[in-house]
Amino acid sequence: MAVLRFSYGTMGSGKSTLALQIHHNLAVRRLNGLLLTKLDRDGVQVTSRLGVSAPAIEVGGDLDVFDLAASRLPLDFVVCDEVQFYSAEQCDQLARIVDELGVDVFAFGLITDFRGLLFDGTRRMLEVADERVEMQVEARCWCGSRATHNARVVNGKVVYEGETVVVGDTNDDGAEPLFGDVVRYELLCRRHYLAGDMGD
Ligand SMILES: [Zn+2]
Repeated sequence: MAVLRFSYGTMGSGKSTLALQIHHNLAVRRLNGLLLTKLDRDGVQVTSRLGVSAPAIEVGGDLDVFDLAASRLPLDFVVCDEVQFYSAEQCDQLARIVDELGVDVFAFGLITDFRGLLFDGTRRMLEVADERVEMQVEARCWCGSRATHNARVVNGKVVYEGETVVVGDTNDDGAEPLFGDVVRYELLCRRHYLAGDMGD
């Protein structure tokens, strides 16, 4: 039986690294796979912060991922990174890849956005996945507690409102001006997220 597995975590929990590892492990066994991503940091490839990357297919807003998979048969597996940005329809298409094509789908996504709310794609994946796996690599807040929140930091301050999709990085040096503001993300525990306290 094919399976739809959804692995989720915060930024820095090793999602992209695991997505690449699974894709690599299956590909070296000569299994046929697709690697999909959406709004990855460096364009159309899956990039891990550990420095590994692989070419990927960009999942645009209108792309029917079921049709894509059906056109690439025979297919053994599909690995999807950044699935938090998928529409609910695209998540349902992943489920159809499993049920109608008998292909395993391994999906990876962030759990909550900078407001502390489930991403739309993540909510749908939690609803439809056969297996829900919390990433085991635990990111830490500066205080040492488990980091549960991806805080958005604009011009040095934690913000709680704004556009959902602003791609940034968790490193200071990765910060790029966006609409004149410096946007980055910082992993915090709930207490320090709510307090807006970055420990500096
Ligand atoms: Zn903390």
